[in-house]
Amino acid sequence: MKVLVINCGSSSLKYQLINTDTDEVFAKGLCERIGIDGSQIVYQKEGCQKEKTLTPMPTHKEAIGLVLEYLMNEETGVVKSLDEIDAIGHRIVHGGEKFTESVLITDEVIEAIEECSELAPLHNPANLTGIRVCQMLMPGIPMVAVFDTAFHQTMPEKAYLYGIPYKYYENYSIRRYGFHGTSHKYVSNHMAHFLKTRLKYLKVIVCHLGNGASISAIDHGKCIDTSMGMTPLEGLMMGTRSGDIDPAILEYIQKKDNITIEEVMDILNKESGVYGMSGISSDFRDLTEAEEAGNQAAARTLEAYAYRVAKYIGSYVAAMNGVDAIAFTAGVGENSAVIRSEICKYLGYLGLTIDEVTNHAGSGDRIITTPDSRVRVCVIPTNEELEIARETMRLVKGDKAE
Ligand code: AMP
Repeated sequence: MKVLVINCGSSSLKYQLINTDTDEVFAKGLCERIGIDGSQIVYQKEGCQKEKTLTPMPTHKEAIGLVLEYLMNEETGVVKSLDEIDAIGHRIVHGGEKFTESVLITDEVIEAIEECSELAPLHNPANLTGIRVCQMLMPGIPMVAVFDTAFHQTMPEKAYLYGIPYKYYENYSIRRYGFHGTSHKYVSNHMAHFLKTRLKYLKVIVCHLGNGASISAIDHGKCIDTSMGMTPLEGLMMGTRSGDIDPAILEYIQKKDNITIEEVMDILNKESGVYGMSGISSDFRDLTEAEEAGNQAAARTLEAYAYRVAKYIGSYVAAMNGVDAIAFTAGVGENSAVIRSEICKYLGYLGLTIDEVTNHAGSGDRIITTPDSRVRVCVIPTNEELEIARETMRLVKGDKAE
């Protein structure tokens, strides 16, 4: 089955055309600066160089129209006509409590996603635009919505409720939802497969450490806790997001700097995390380089980062009363042996030892603990697009979830 995966942001759009029978990517790319001067489409056919073209894209309609033109281009395209595209999978950020799994898109589903927009005002409206434009340009092709939040809907009340008046949960739906669910689901399943077992037999912790970062506890196949909250601001320290802080700090900064709550939120979302703490960069490559050059700010930031990840791992070991395997994934988790090593220095009590040779030298799926370790630590590259494509195929075929 050929599935077009669409991830629509407010001014950008990522796409991949995937063969779900072979997991092969026919072509992929992105449209940037939609509705802004200097918009550009990037297109890459499998095995070929990236093509970058500056072209006006006033709205998402022109952007998706261009994607389809590139996919059908006589010379560099990968399909002859739209009829070859069997289904479209859309990444949707927030499914609230309404969506506990992926769904085929209908008018009712669109309405329900709209109702969740209040919880993700920057993301859901953009995701919905993607759906509407695809309906317009490719009528009749079945579409599926895959939610970032759905995988975490198995969390029990004790994990998702905040210690605030219960009426806020009842009246405003304030609770932990969690994000990166597609990645946590893909990585946990893939790790079980890689370890030649089934997820239902394992207690697993997935550390998705990218520019955004979250961690989840998956007990016998079900997510029982995750670090991001009602929004992606909670939890680990991230590239530019603060993660957990004392909520009273918000009012304190607001008063001290005489700024609005919106400005404080902007600081927590865009000027904090490792960027804010180090004053150097949100990119972990820059921080690691600076640390190696003897920069103290970079060193203390990376130390604080690793410490927090290790604390979360510890709390999830307690929540599950044990752990069998820990996965590192996403930009930092997959690529930074130094950070993996720093985090795992705290985990000796679990009976694990990092094999620094495989940690530093390997690539792709791999175990980075020594064979005598009681808990296995793995590096598992994430693939959210493939997970969306697989979910789309499953629903279009009418298959049940595992
Ligand atoms: P993601 O959000 O998953 O795309 O991850 C982006 C983050 O991965 C950025 O902060 C990058 O600095 C980080 N990253 C990518 N490659 C490396 C690397 N080799 N070492 C450390 N961090 C990396």
